[in-house]
Amino acid sequence: GRRAAPPAKEVASICPYCGVGCQVGFRVRDDRIEEVVGREGPANAGRLCVKGRFGFDYIAHPERLTKPLIRLDGAPKDPADCLDPARARRHFREASWDEALERAAQGLARIRDGAGGPAALAGFGSAKGSNEEAYLFQKLVRTGFGTNNVDHCTRLCHAASVAALLEDVGSAAVTAPFTAATEADLLLVIGARPTENHPVAATFLKDAAARGAKLVVMDPRGTGLDRFATEVVRFAPGQDVALLNALLHVIVEEEIYDAAFVASRVDGFAELRAHLAAYAPEAMERLSGVPAEQVRRVARLYAGARSALTLWGMGVSQSVHGTDNARALIALALLCGHVGREGAGLHPLRGQNNVQGASDAGLIPMMLPDYRRTADPVARSFLEELWGAKLDEQPGLTVVEILQAAERGEIRGMYVMGENPAMSDPDLAHARAALARLDHLVVQDLFLTETAALADVVLPGSAWPEKDGTVTNTNRQVQVGRAAVPPPGEARQDLRIIADLARRLGLDWPQLQARDVFGEMAQAMPSLANITWERLERENSVTYPCAAPDAPGEAIVFRDAFPTPSGRARLAPAGLSDPGEMPDAEYPFVLTTGRELEHWHTGAMTRRARVLDALEPAPTVSLAPAELRRLGLASGQRLRVATRRGAVELLAREDPALPPGLAFIPFAYREAAANLLTDPRLDPDGKIPGFKFCAARLEPA
Ligand code: SF4
Repeated sequence: GRRAAPPAKEVASICPYCGVGCQVGFRVRDDRIEEVVGREGPANAGRLCVKGRFGFDYIAHPERLTKPLIRLDGAPKDPADCLDPARARRHFREASWDEALERAAQGLARIRDGAGGPAALAGFGSAKGSNEEAYLFQKLVRTGFGTNNVDHCTRLCHAASVAALLEDVGSAAVTAPFTAATEADLLLVIGARPTENHPVAATFLKDAAARGAKLVVMDPRGTGLDRFATEVVRFAPGQDVALLNALLHVIVEEEIYDAAFVASRVDGFAELRAHLAAYAPEAMERLSGVPAEQVRRVARLYAGARSALTLWGMGVSQSVHGTDNARALIALALLCGHVGREGAGLHPLRGQNNVQGASDAGLIPMMLPDYRRTADPVARSFLEELWGAKLDEQPGLTVVEILQAAERGEIRGMYVMGENPAMSDPDLAHARAALARLDHLVVQDLFLTETAALADVVLPGSAWPEKDGTVTNTNRQVQVGRAAVPPPGEARQDLRIIADLARRLGLDWPQLQARDVFGEMAQAMPSLANITWERLERENSVTYPCAAPDAPGEAIVFRDAFPTPSGRARLAPAGLSDPGEMPDAEYPFVLTTGRELEHWHTGAMTRRARVLDALEPAPTVSLAPAELRRLGLASGQRLRVATRRGAVELLAREDPALPPGLAFIPFAYREAAANLLTDPRLDPDGKIPGFKFCAARLEPA
C-alpha cells in the first residue's frame, strides 16, 4: 500500500503581525508552511486572528526578491514607479551579493566622507524585524554612519504616547499587560479598535466584559467593542483633550479622586486643578459633542472603579496634539490611582509586532538603547566602551524630518530595512520625491516595495518565519521566534546583511547569530537583566523587568514608585488646540486613516497573502450612509477623495459606525494610497503626524 506522508514538524514562533504577540506553531513539510496553529502563549492562550492563521503564504509569493538588484546606470528614479512594481523592476539588473554589498557600502561611505559628513546620512530600521536586527541596525547607523539619524515607524504610531509617558511616569512601556483585564473592575478603551487591530487582545477585553467588568469605549467612530460596552462615548474627531479634561474636571470638582494616591505618589495636583477650572463638561459639550450628563456619569464610573485598566491606540497618538491627548489620559489614571495595582494600569496598545522591542533597542534618534538620551555623557561613554566607537551627542532627525531634509537636499543617502516610507509617510507626493532625490538609497526588504522602487541597491532579506530572533510585544513580553523554513533563492538573513555592510563601512564586526547579538544587548540594556537566550529558549516568553534569573518578570510595574528622579509621577495639564487642518467650504469633510482587520500597514505582506487579499481585495472609503446618499452614491460605486495634497479614487463603502462628516480610508493600498492625502504637520513633542485628521473633499468619480 501507499506510505503515509510524514507528519509535519511544528516550529514554535510568534505571529509577526501585531503587538499582541500571539505564539504560533508553523507546521512545516518539505520547507513549506502548511498550516499555522495557535500555541499557549501568555498573550494569546491558543487564540489567533485571521492574520495569524492565514497570513503567511506571502513568503512564497512569486514577487519575492531572491537576488540582489542594482539600478541600471542612468535609469531615472520616477515616483510613478511606486505604483507599478513590474515597471520599477525594468530599471534594475540582478547582481551578485558581493557587487551589491560593495555598491551599497561605497555609496553610503562616499556621502559620509563627503562635504555633508555623517549628518547627510540616515537609516530607517524596522519594527517588523527582531530585537537583534533593530539593535544591530541602530549600532551600524550610530557607529558606522556616525549619526543619530535613525528612526522607525514607531514615530508614526506611538511617539506621542512615548513622549507623554516618559515625561509623566518616567517609562514608555505599558504599566500592565492587556491580560490585566482579567482582574479589572473597569476597562477604558479610547482611540483604539482592538477588534480589528489587536483582535486577540480584544477577546480578553470581551471576556472581561462578559464576566461583569464595566467597559467604557470612547471613539469618534463606532467600534467592534461597542456592543459589549457599559458606556459608549462618541466624541467629535480630534477633541480628545476637551473630553478628557471635562472628565478630569468632574473628578476634581466632585472630589472623587484617590486623594491618598495623589498625595503619596503624584506631583502637580494644584496646577492641574487650577487648569481644569475652565473645563466643566457643560462648557466642553459643544466642542466634544458629548452630553455633560454622560461625561459626569463616566467620570464617576471610572473614579469609583476598584481598579481600571486604561487602553489606547492610534486615535489618541496620531494627532498634532497627540502628546497632549496622552498627557490628559495619563492624568486621568494617576488622579484615580489606577496604576501599579492588579487589574489597573496604562496600556498604549502597540501596533507592529516589535514596536516595543525596536524602541527599547534604540531605533530612536534622540535615545540610545533603553531610552538613554544621546546627550547623556554617562550613557554615551558606557556604550562607547562596549561598542569601541565614538558616539554623537546631537540627537538625530525623526522619520518625517529626515524625508523633509532629503527633499531639501540635506540628507543625501539612506539605508532602509523593512520599512516602506513611500507608503507610510504623510503627504506621499513629497515623501516619494524626497526618496527619489537621494544620491544613494539602499533598501533591504522582501519585495520590490514602493520604497525599493526608488532604490539604488536592493538587498533581499528574510521573512519572519525564516529567522531566529526575539521580539517584544505590547505587554513587555520578550518572546523567541525560530526559523521554520529557509529564505528562498539567494535571499539572506537580515542580521548577516547588516553585519556585511558594517564591515564594508570599516567596522570590525564578526558574523553573529541572533543569540550572540542578544547576549550583547543584555550587556547594553539593563531592562533585559536576568533574561538570557537559554532562558527564552526554555520558557519562550519572559516579561521585563525581571528581578532574578528564576523569577517571573513583573507584569505590573510601579507598585511603590515611578522610575523618575523623585520616584513620583507628574500630572501634566493639557490645553486645547485645533486638531489639525480644519474643514472648510472647499474641503468640508474630515478624513481619518488607519488599518483594517485583514491588512497590515502598507500591505507589503498581507496583500500578498491569498486568503487575506481575497477577504479585502480593493481600497475603499467608508462613509455614514446618509453622507453616501447625499453624494448620490451607493456602496461599491467609485468616489474621488481629494485634499490639498493629492487625490485618489476608490470604492465607496457604507458604514453606520461613522458619524456624518467623517470619512475613513485604510492605508494599505498602493493603487489608492491614503497617505497621498494626509497632512505632514507634526505634534511638537512626539513629532508624530496627524494621520487621523485632515480636511477633504469627496465627489463621485
Ligand atoms: Fe497575529 Fe496580532 Fe492576530 Fe495575534 S492578534 S494572530 S499577533 S495579528
